[in-house]
Amino acid sequence: MTTSYEKLAMLIDGEWTAGSCSRSTPVINPATEETLGELPFAATADLDRALDASQRGFAIWKRAPAIERQAIMEKAARLLEERRDAIARNCTLEIGKPIKESRAELDSVVGIIRWYAEEGKRAYGRVIPSRSDAVRNMALKEPIGPVVAFAAWNFPGVNVIRKVAGALAAGCSIVVKPSEETPATAIAIARCFQDAGLPDGVLNVVFGEPAEVSRHLLASRIPKKVTFTGSVPVGIHLQKLAADTLKRCTLELGGHAPFIVFDDADVEAAARLGAQFKFRNAGQVCTTPSRFFVQSGVHDRFLDALRQSVSEIVVGDGLDPATTMGPLAARRRLDEMERIVHDASDYGASVVTGGMRLGKRGWFYAPTILDDVPDGALIMREEQFGPVAPIARFDDLDEVIERANSVDVGLASYVFTGSGKRANVVSNALNAGMVGVNGTMISLPETPFGGVEQSGYGSEGGVEGLNDFLRTKLVAETH
Ligand code: NAD
Repeated sequence: MTTSYEKLAMLIDGEWTAGSCSRSTPVINPATEETLGELPFAATADLDRALDASQRGFAIWKRAPAIERQAIMEKAARLLEERRDAIARNCTLEIGKPIKESRAELDSVVGIIRWYAEEGKRAYGRVIPSRSDAVRNMALKEPIGPVVAFAAWNFPGVNVIRKVAGALAAGCSIVVKPSEETPATAIAIARCFQDAGLPDGVLNVVFGEPAEVSRHLLASRIPKKVTFTGSVPVGIHLQKLAADTLKRCTLELGGHAPFIVFDDADVEAAARLGAQFKFRNAGQVCTTPSRFFVQSGVHDRFLDALRQSVSEIVVGDGLDPATTMGPLAARRRLDEMERIVHDASDYGASVVTGGMRLGKRGWFYAPTILDDVPDGALIMREEQFGPVAPIARFDDLDEVIERANSVDVGLASYVFTGSGKRANVVSNALNAGMVGVNGTMISLPETPFGGVEQSGYGSEGGVEGLNDFLRTKLVAETH
């Protein structure tokens, strides 16, 4: 066991606990395959305690003035800043990403807390012109109630805080189940909120067998909303569970982002940015560019520039400061990479670089470029969630829009062109929740983040994100 790793525990009703279940799971370092610690699981009774605590916590927190909520959240943000380097180290240990990326993720976590804390003070309603001098119609915003959240492993901090900070800023309490594969970052964040003086029961953190925990929590009438980041099948399953008690859902279910480069773009800049974004977190990012469509006339230039950027990637243990890409988070992701790369080769794609596992210890896969990948290959149809960049050529605008829109997920998309008119036409036509034009900055605390169709619905971030934790009440006042 790694001694400096976070002490793993659950937070229930303000108490750090190992729970009353005899089951637990080891947390594995993907760079070394060593066990970092043993994560306790919640028994049903522990989950019930968390639910009850969230109900009591909600009664307190919803009445706290927004300015008080902001003060506690701001204190938590400051504590997180102080502890940032230690937490980032644990984040790298459990997910494998380079330490620089973990630090940047923690900085984003702080930014999200601060932004939501401020925005909670602006949960404005409306006064609606009435039909009589004696009446005032007011549409008021109030917190929706206790929330249940399930967060995926790929951003152990950001995936959790988008849910926690949004809920807390709105005045909701929350029971969150972070990923069992990456629990330490979430635990450390929760410690900051506890140490900042968050009332007991407002934030609860539980772990367990995901299917069992979600079935139990979602069967309860206490939570009024569920928010989830993860895969499409699990999102659909959770929505079904939520239906029985009519909980509101926010679902962030991944995507298959087209990255379209027209011949009038700054091709080299697009390739550099594409490589930076594609191989961040070893490609395990729901907004990662995952289908590169390059106009035929600039294909060779783009490929050369992309290959150059990829040749500079240093794969290794994320704790080594020289590393720019770490391992995959789990062994199953390696198997998946092998499957999709073999399939693409069978379809006639060429492996320009990479295309294999690296080393015998740790779950490393080489940064990979595939060229001339036919649309029928698996990798062009399904989200890949790994460090593989498939390139395909296109000739004209209508054709590339049709191909970009041919999948049923629609989260992120990117278009690179020197023409404003073309950028408008393409961004209007893309079936996606977010479009980056000549850039990839589509995920900031103040902007709405979310997808369409099978990528789910609802927003995390922006006023839209706060609104997802609020409900509307009309007060019609007669005097
Ligand atoms: P998964 O859907 O099985 O797991 C994703 C997260 O959901 C995990 O943290 C897991 O603990 C949790 N989960 C799984 N079943 C659950 C249940 N019944 N109730 C509550 N939570 C549950 O996906 P995976 O095997 O980890 O990854 C496979 C695919 O999922 C990836 O290829 C990618 O497409 C997608 N994914 C998307 C995101 C995203 O950011 N949207 C994040 C992680 C994974």
